[in-house]
Amino acid sequence: MRLVDAHCHLEDESLHARLDAVLGDAREAGVVRVLTCAVTPDQWPTSAGIARRHPEVAFALGVHPWYAKPEHLPRLDELRGARELGATAIGEIGLDSKVETPSMDLQTEVFEAQLAIAKELALPVVIHCRGAFNELFASLKRIGTPSPAGTIHAFSGNVHLARTFVTFGLKFSLGRSLTYKRCAKREELMRFIYPDHFLLETDSPDMPPVGAEPDAPNEPRNLVLNLRGAAELLGRDPAEVAEATTRNASEVFDLGL
Ligand SMILES: [Zn+2]
Repeated sequence: MRLVDAHCHLEDESLHARLDAVLGDAREAGVVRVLTCAVTPDQWPTSAGIARRHPEVAFALGVHPWYAKPEHLPRLDELRGARELGATAIGEIGLDSKVETPSMDLQTEVFEAQLAIAKELALPVVIHCRGAFNELFASLKRIGTPSPAGTIHAFSGNVHLARTFVTFGLKFSLGRSLTYKRCAKREELMRFIYPDHFLLETDSPDMPPVGAEPDAPNEPRNLVLNLRGAAELLGRDPAEVAEATTRNASEVFDLGL
């Protein structure tokens, strides 16, 4: 079985400090590729360095909406070199209305500038969106999307929202929510996004799934718990779900799997 963790943060000190062990355990669990996403410009060299040392790691460069600052705006130009640096995507970028700062105006400016660069480079985007779906749709309409478009990560919306994202070419990566007690809304979403629009993620070191070691950082090896949750929700064989999600991840992020 081959799995892809389509969204995590290996730059985080809790994982970066013991990266060989983290990636070794992931490999043993069947995770053959990991997409790590930078959240600030300071992390960009770290992301590229990790991928240089570990061929199973692909990386995305971006500024996360929580950390957007006015002084990042001139630095976004550097993202035009993302392809040459070996980046697979632009991310983690997006909009989040549930945080008080940065303002939605600044978040939108930073997001749209990065979306435009991704489109220019034809690199997919990795999007974070909480409580700002209408604002996000407005930005996607204004700027457009790259081809392939990319993913909405940790998607928790309903089928109606999912349909709109699909019209923009976006797919969905889900993690911990797959291990929650089943509910009709999630089952309906899964039936809609499976098999063609669904990827697996852990968001390590955050969002440990139900059943993971408590009080420890989440890790890519825990992706198997999310796989199991997805297979149960769908009433399908885990091997089949693994194959579909790996194929989707490979297509979106050009992983050659
Ligand atoms: Zn994330």
